[in-house]
Amino acid sequence: MDFETKYSKLGNSLQSSLIRELLKYASVPNAISFGGGVPDPETFPRKELSQIASEIIEKEYAYVLQYSTTEGDPELANQIIAMLERIYGISNLSENNIMFTTGSQEALELAGKIFLDEESIAIVEDPFYLGAASAFKMRFPKFVTIPLEDDGMNVDVLEKELKSLDEKGLIKKVKFIYVIPNFHNPAGVTLSYEKRKRIIELAERYDLPIIEDDPYGLLRFEGEPLDPIFKMAGPERVILLNTFSKILAPGLRIGVVIGSEQVVRKFVLAKQGTDLCSSALTQRLAARYFERYDILQQITPTIKLYKSKKDTMMQAFEEYFGDIKGIKWVKPEGGLFTWVTLPEGFDTMEMFEIAKQKLVFYIPGQPFTPDNKVSPSMRMSFCLPPHEKIVEGVKRLRDTILEYGKTKGLI
Ligand SMILES: *Cc1c(COP(=O)(O)O)cnc(C)c1O
Repeated sequence: MDFETKYSKLGNSLQSSLIRELLKYASVPNAISFGGGVPDPETFPRKELSQIASEIIEKEYAYVLQYSTTEGDPELANQIIAMLERIYGISNLSENNIMFTTGSQEALELAGKIFLDEESIAIVEDPFYLGAASAFKMRFPKFVTIPLEDDGMNVDVLEKELKSLDEKGLIKKVKFIYVIPNFHNPAGVTLSYEKRKRIIELAERYDLPIIEDDPYGLLRFEGEPLDPIFKMAGPERVILLNTFSKILAPGLRIGVVIGSEQVVRKFVLAKQGTDLCSSALTQRLAARYFERYDILQQITPTIKLYKSKKDTMMQAFEEYFGDIKGIKWVKPEGGLFTWVTLPEGFDTMEMFEIAKQKLVFYIPGQPFTPDNKVSPSMRMSFCLPPHEKIVEGVKRLRDTILEYGKTKGLI
């Protein structure tokens, strides 16, 4: 059987992710990888979780080993409602505003399903988070991409694009504005308060929903926390996606959709056809964990660890990149990533061959561009390598940049 002849349009469009291919090399001995986008496993509260897991499997087996409702664990929903109130001062939410998903990735995929058709337009950032890109692309929409600046989305460009879509009679085709407000993946930047307000104004002017994807908000290691767009504009305008992947453990696969009752209901109906429900076991595990432990206290050591590694990387950049003309990097105030942009003419995908020989790995910017165009940028994560490897890796990257730059006549 030649299955190729039978695939759907979607099946035919699926391609292996370049990042996976690239990261295969990163496991060779002595390699230093800034490529991974995952948290440090040492930050997972494994003793606490294993104790709770054994307790709930013994005592609450009828719930945790059973099918759950599509909406998810009401006890966890109540924990989330209390956390949103305590941390952000978001009030007036009930269980009907909450649905749990199998990671935020599922929420992104469901958002694609319920909002996007082939002729739809989604407003997204450039660079574009790959998980959202692959989720939305399953619906074959058109993307309008808004470049990111040091303080988030270029709102002037957003305004111009929306105005032009409106003039062309296409504004009804625009289904949502998708933003990652804090410590962007891959760009590391944070959307300023002013820009949050302007995005809300534009969303109101053109009557558009905002999807606020915020996996990293609690991982702030410096600067002042900013209100979520959800808090500023409310559930009638904003769908907030949160996840426990970056603050607790991604293996639990718990994400949460927070929105108006009406839209959450639609997510529930879509989820029924996708996976019936998420795991009751991991949801109850998380609920008991949040009941017993203060998440803000629990993540304090994690934040300290990431901050110190970020500082090490920033110092290494000053030292080893400081004299490379035209190079720029983002100084993140939280999260896992920084974004380094090399001088014009550099192609970080092509440069990857040299990096490979020098045993240093990063993610080239190209796959994060919506139309897969050549990119002088790269994503670097500081959270996994130990301090001395961060310094050594940046040194190797300097050699890589200089060698590539000389061969290309760019330096
Ligand atoms: C990690 C991440 C997610 C969440 O992934 P899940 O593990 O599926 O919850 C969502 N959005 C962004 C921008 C991320 O970096």
